[in-house]
Amino acid sequence: MKTPISFKKRVIAFFHSIRFRLLLWFTAILVLVMFVFSAFIYFNQVRDLDDDALGRISSRLNGMQDSLRISLHQQGEQLVLPDNLFQDSDIFVLVNSKGQILASRGTTSVQEIVQHAINDRPQPQEPFENKIAWVNRDLGYGFVAAPIFGESGQTSLTILGSPLDPSGRIKSLVINLLLGGLITLIIALGGGFWLADRAMRPVRTITHTARNISESDLSRRINLEGKDEIGELANTFDNMLARLQAAFERQRQFVADASHELRTPLTIVNLEASRALAARRSPQEYKRALQVIHSENDFMSHLVNDLLTLARMDNGQVPLEKSPIDLSDVAVDAIDRLTPLAARKDVKLETGELPEARMLGDRQSLLQMVSNLIENAIKYTAGNDKRVCIETGVTDDCAWVRVSDNGPGIAPEHIPHLFDRFYRVDEARARATDEDAETPTGSGLGLSIIQWIAQAHGGEVHVESAPGNGSSFEVRFEAL
Ligand code: ADP
Repeated sequence: MKTPISFKKRVIAFFHSIRFRLLLWFTAILVLVMFVFSAFIYFNQVRDLDDDALGRISSRLNGMQDSLRISLHQQGEQLVLPDNLFQDSDIFVLVNSKGQILASRGTTSVQEIVQHAINDRPQPQEPFENKIAWVNRDLGYGFVAAPIFGESGQTSLTILGSPLDPSGRIKSLVINLLLGGLITLIIALGGGFWLADRAMRPVRTITHTARNISESDLSRRINLEGKDEIGELANTFDNMLARLQAAFERQRQFVADASHELRTPLTIVNLEASRALAARRSPQEYKRALQVIHSENDFMSHLVNDLLTLARMDNGQVPLEKSPIDLSDVAVDAIDRLTPLAARKDVKLETGELPEARMLGDRQSLLQMVSNLIENAIKYTAGNDKRVCIETGVTDDCAWVRVSDNGPGIAPEHIPHLFDRFYRVDEARARATDEDAETPTGSGLGLSIIQWIAQAHGGEVHVESAPGNGSSFEVRFEAL
């Protein structure tokens, strides 16, 4: 049952979410970009305005020069400035070569302005040589100072100041930038939230599906269509689920098969014991019952041994201590071990040439592998002339060991399944009660173990067999 999530929890979850972090980053970057962009526009505009204003002031000052020179000539030290030359907002100063103010109009900080003009001269010892221009940000004015030469040769300095931005263009630019920035930010925040939410939606789907997957139902898949990174993640997740499902299925099948395999011998033992105990029996009948119980017990202990071996192999509990070994030595050891069994079963163990076949491997498990192959061959050969041949060799960088027999062979339709766990070609023959307790009865696990050992050494098992023509099992490894 779904429990509703409280508002507080949702808010906390949101603040911890990737969506929120994405949004935060996105906003921070956007604000930075907007700030840099606005600053760039602002300073460009201010510089253009300054240049415009100074240009304007300079050309106005040029235009004034003649009338000023005339006034200066006519009036001498008591200069009265002609009003028609100036605009209301103008600041004007006329300074003689000694720095005394001859005439001024406008602001109270005239002295300061004059000081600036005098200080900024490129060559203070030769006053009033060149035109200079500057900007006073506190006043919001641009100033141009230019020398003026009187009729009698004396040099004076004229300074004209005018507002830099009389129509308030910068102010409205700042307002526009702020307003535009705010609107962009609001739109971008909304869009960013929508985008982050949309980008994270598949992740929520994955989380939701993962939450609903239980051990007993691994059949669910996310099935995201996208080919992007999240689609790839979902696909990987689906593949992992498929593998897990297959592994669980195999395990379930394995347990079911194992209990099925054990049930038959246990039932037989139970039946035989009950039958023997139900009434007085002859010694021969008791002997037969005990033989059956012995044989079934033998089958079960083999089965349990094989199951344990496979379980340990699956869990990685079979440590392989690999060292350079010679496969022919391993084959000779296996033959030595199994010669008594072969003799009892009337099987001739033959060896072809056993040339050196060096490889890197774990001697103990390789001995088990070759022994299992020989045991199978001994077990399944039939007829009067029973022969099993063991060979080793090296071909094309492959060290190999081959066990072949002249037994009944295996029909082609069985060959692909031989290595499946519990797979037996002929149930009846494999389960036949064997009088000889040393002969293993078939559990269908031997070849699985052989294949596991081969693969753990980077090798592979090849089977060649045809009904009536015997079988040949060859295991190939990388040679040293
Ligand atoms: P089992 O314990 O039953 O021998 P294996 O996994 O070793 O199990 O073998 C699987 C099946 O492969 C056996 O039931 C048998 O029918 C077949 N088989 C294995 N080796 C040979 C062989 N040398 N000749 C004929 N059949 C064989």
